[in-house]
Amino acid sequence: MDDKAQADKRYGGCKCFVSESGFSMFALGVEGDRAGWLYDVFVSPRERKPVVAALIRLAVKQGARQLVTYEHPFLEWFFLQFGFETRIRVKHSQLNNPPQEWIPDSVASGFSCPDFLCMVRKDDYTIGPSMMSDTEDFASRAGTVFCDQYCASCGSELPALRWLNVFGGYQCRRGCGTLHVEGALTLAPWDGDGSASVPQPGRFSSGADLLRFAKQG
Ligand SMILES: [Zn+2]
Repeated sequence: MDDKAQADKRYGGCKCFVSESGFSMFALGVEGDRAGWLYDVFVSPRERKPVVAALIRLAVKQGARQLVTYEHPFLEWFFLQFGFETRIRVKHSQLNNPPQEWIPDSVASGFSCPDFLCMVRKDDYTIGPSMMSDTEDFASRAGTVFCDQYCASCGSELPALRWLNVFGGYQCRRGCGTLHVEGALTLAPWDGDGSASVPQPGRFSSGADLLRFAKQG
């Protein structure tokens, strides 16, 4: 498959949104099994910081209903603020032929593959952003590194975390409360090959399959 055919397949039945700077994007499924999926959310470190939350709010306004992300408390907490709730946590080994790019590159260098969360948006969500526990609590997670940064809004010094080269971010807890995340924030749903006609308990053969289960829970 050439690049264009690959992009057509990946982004078929969806709308792609790119930030003004061109540094960030997301895809939103609008047709068929992809409807409502918020996927391939990517934020470049060069992006202006307030853009990230605006991007997710836009996605929600445009109809984002569900997503898959890596199981990490910071990412989970980030999406909670926009009304997404974790419905199901799965291991890579429970998925039939998931996309290769779901496995972070760092797994090749010895880290185990993280679990995945399927999060579904609640209709009646009204609670705004709140403070989470200190990002330093995540230090015990394999693959986490910290570096000192300055808050993009108020300039307070704070510990920013990076995890497995997947994402990075911080919340300015001692200052203005700004939350920032960057990197690959959600994964693409996969279509499956239709081979698993009989559902097997605890195994999932497509994004739609995962979502069906998530909605029952
Ligand atoms: Zn701040």
